[in-house]
Amino acid sequence: MDADHVPSEITEILITDEQLQRRLAEVAAQVDADYAGRDLLLVGVLKGATIVVADFMRHLKSHVTVDWMAVSSYGSGTQSSGVVRILKDLDTDLEGRNVLVVEDILDTGLTLSWLLSNLKSRGAESVEVFTLLRKPEALRIPVEPKYVGFDIPNVFVVGYGLDYAERYRNLRQVGVLDPRVYGG
Ligand code: 5GP
Repeated sequence: MDADHVPSEITEILITDEQLQRRLAEVAAQVDADYAGRDLLLVGVLKGATIVVADFMRHLKSHVTVDWMAVSSYGSGTQSSGVVRILKDLDTDLEGRNVLVVEDILDTGLTLSWLLSNLKSRGAESVEVFTLLRKPEALRIPVEPKYVGFDIPNVFVVGYGLDYAERYRNLRQVGVLDPRVYGG
């Protein structure tokens, strides 16, 4: 789906699909160089990071394995609750592994900081983060991702995996959702 298929719902396209792919290729080249000669496990955070992981891992030129975790912090609203629950845990033992957590968006940092301390306690050799999007103005807990796709303003965005009430994940672009859609 493209933003112009739902023109009354998306007020602005923040990042086009070409810009997304170009940036993913740049980050993948950096990750290839940084992890050369080491094993790498991508941990995708469901469901928002599915499309980032799918595209990003195909830009990598080295072998990689992938596993998934599902955590919940939001429900179907648009404000972070700070309450994190594991809905689906990893199948992989992290002992001695180099882990790169792939996130769709870093907002307040509540979810990611909780997730990182959880993963770090499992004996991994290293745990780093690639977040496609980051809202620097919204950050409440210091989390320093090793790789960031794009810094964006503090607005509610959808598309490229990111949802509102489970819709818009299949939008090709990252766009700003019209507040009228969520009654804002
Ligand atoms: P945090 O705990 O950093 O505040 O929020 C992280 C999670 O909140 C993300 O993984 C995502 O699920 C959700 N989130 C935060 N900001 C946005 C946004 O602008 N759009 C959407 N769709 N989800 C968001």
